[in-house]
Amino acid sequence: MPSSVSAIHTRRGLDLGMHTAHNANLDATPLVLLVDDSKFVHRLLVTRLRSESITLHSEYDGKAGLEFAIANSPALIMLDLDMPIMDGFETLRNLKDNPITKDIPVIVLSGNSATQDKVTAFDLGAVDFICKPFELTELRARLRVSLQLHSVMQMLAQKAMIDGLTGLYNRAMFDQRWQEEYERCVRHGHPMSLVMIDIDNFKSINDGYGHPAGDAVISGLARMMITEVRKSDVACRYGGEEFSIILPETSPEDALAICERIRIQCEKTVWPNHPGRTVTISIGIAGTSVEATLDRDQWLGQADKNLYAAKNAGRNQTRVTDFATDSQGLSRAG
Ligand code: GH3
Ligand code: MG
Ligand code: MG
Repeated sequence: MPSSVSAIHTRRGLDLGMHTAHNANLDATPLVLLVDDSKFVHRLLVTRLRSESITLHSEYDGKAGLEFAIANSPALIMLDLDMPIMDGFETLRNLKDNPITKDIPVIVLSGNSATQDKVTAFDLGAVDFICKPFELTELRARLRVSLQLHSVMQMLAQKAMIDGLTGLYNRAMFDQRWQEEYERCVRHGHPMSLVMIDIDNFKSINDGYGHPAGDAVISGLARMMITEVRKSDVACRYGGEEFSIILPETSPEDALAICERIRIQCEKTVWPNHPGRTVTISIGIAGTSVEATLDRDQWLGQADKNLYAAKNAGRNQTRVTDFATDSQGLSRAG
């Protein structure tokens, strides 16, 4: 029977469902999965790794190990080669073929020190190969190095997709997520909305009160967006003072309600650097309450057109299109 040797929390290493860096969760006590058919090895490692700040979980065959890895994204896997049901090489191949588990570092543990086994393990993507019987001090040292490397890789991956000023996803991440969410929407025929937001007359804030005051407005607006959207929504800094939000499973009508809350809150905010100068935003929404009928670029183009229609109509307002009914709505400032 698989057993857990200490408390296990279901977790996802790099949660792409998060909408900002604020809820990024770099593991404090990394979850390490040990897959080995020998109860002796489990007992030995549980005892000898007790002083390490890790959560160790045990599985006894490759198939169970693979299933656990897919469900829990451990920070590291220690994998035996000679096992029943699914051996270590096949497990490793499966781990590396699966987008959810392919980046998890794997240390192979083997009673066989043949060079060919080592070469095969590294060819399949293992980060290390440790021969049994273990030299436990060496095992601990190698475990620590692999975990440190994994944590640095996670941090870099996160930095590469997060905007430094606001903590929102950056433009590169928007492009990736927009493609993914669009495809999901087409596949399932569910509602979805795309929002483009631009700060009105922003240049005059920079010119009148300085660049840091402008930066404070950009990050303040980002915080308002974070407060209003759900975890499954994707809020991004699209560029300079422009933002985009992907709202899966959200009709344009519901997106309008969310955007209006953001717009009104922005308009009412008193900014410490310029209490007498309010800031407003213009918003374009394009979405479908039923299923996608446009291609991805046309969809984005329509949200952009609506944003510029809102600008041209006097700013501080939201324009919406629902592709399902082809209806155009307008919401003005109070
Ligand atoms: P509109 O209402 O038509 O959108 O006018 P606008 O002044 O907001 O638009 P415009 O595109 O002319 O100006 C955008 C300005 O945003 C110009 C640029 O210097 C400034 N900007 C871009 N990125 C940043 C940033 O990170 N920080 C600050 N403070 N300003 C930025
Ligand atoms: Mg702009
Ligand atoms: Mg602007």
